[in-house]
Amino acid sequence: MRKLNNILITGGAGFIGSNLIRYLFNLPDFKGRIVNVDKLTYAGELKNLGDIENNPRYSFKKTDICNKDEIQLILKQYNIDTIIHLAAESHVDRSITAPEDFIKTNITGTFNLVESARNFWGGRKDVLFHHVSTDEVYGSLGKTGFFYEDTPYDPRSPYSASKASSDHLVRSYFHTYNLPITISNCSNNYGPYQFPEKLIPVIILNIINEKPLPIYGDGKNIRDWLYVDDHNSAIWSIIKRGEAGGTYNIGGENEWENIKLVEVLCEKIAKLKEKDINYYKKLITFVKDRAGHDLRYAINCDKLKSGLKWSQSFTFDEGLDKTIKWYLKDKI
Ligand code: NAD
Repeated sequence: MRKLNNILITGGAGFIGSNLIRYLFNLPDFKGRIVNVDKLTYAGELKNLGDIENNPRYSFKKTDICNKDEIQLILKQYNIDTIIHLAAESHVDRSITAPEDFIKTNITGTFNLVESARNFWGGRKDVLFHHVSTDEVYGSLGKTGFFYEDTPYDPRSPYSASKASSDHLVRSYFHTYNLPITISNCSNNYGPYQFPEKLIPVIILNIINEKPLPIYGDGKNIRDWLYVDDHNSAIWSIIKRGEAGGTYNIGGENEWENIKLVEVLCEKIAKLKEKDINYYKKLITFVKDRAGHDLRYAINCDKLKSGLKWSQSFTFDEGLDKTIKWYLKDKI
């Protein structure tokens, strides 16, 4: 039986991490402690956790996951029995212009964590290292088909290559050392607290500020979108009931061409602001395509749905409304 008493979350000041910490503290069946380890890069903000910081079951440590001594100390000090590893350099465009930090944090940092966990836990079976990863490790799809858990890896950006490498490392610790691990590969998340460099927050904020809405290439690239708390509920299902050594795909079964998604955001905000949709649509600006831009991602998540009885709680419509409302309140 897994303990789930003292959970270390890496990258907890980032987008998914801060939502995950809030999600876990609101669960009726989680009574444990959370230690958040975050280096606070440009993408991490402690104000994302302002409502949590005084919770007596919460601690924050400003630490780089590459710092072996500090990580080992934290594992010991808090008697950590579960690690949910999210800390990463996460922005594909930055990985194209400056890949080095991606190699350091995503590969060396993950190695350091998994190796520290192995040393600290010895042969224990009531512990878990859960590695949060992306569907981008599988490469790009054509107009049809889906990524399955056994789809061969084919990463095409330094970001996805670094995440693929970290997935392999974590999986190898299960096969080589019997370390209890699970891995999840998720599609694009959206929701509150996302750093405004990713598509949905950039577009929402630019619509509100009446700035150009940049779209790569012809806007026909397709992504699958999942509300962040549905990702969090999937992680919780895997941590509680996932098979040790197992990989689980997480997806929204919700594919959108980028251009269509931008039009939906224009429509929703136009309604809120009582403006004509064309007032915002005319801000759409096509820009030079991203190098090696993957055409389409689509996830098959039947293993998670049938095996662990996970399902989504938010429709895309609800999730977008919640997200827009948050950005309107927080950023204006
Ligand atoms: P994010 O960029 O918003 O947050 C990353 C966090 O990690 C930040 O708080 C940052 O300060 C911290 N961090 C970076 N380097 C660190 C280091 N060396 N030591 C300690 N902390 C460090 O990212 P996110 O969107 O919340 O993604 C979290 C995880 O989920 C990543 O592993 C990412 O690959 C994965 N993922 C994200 C998505 C998505 O759509 N956002 C989809 C699938 C998987």
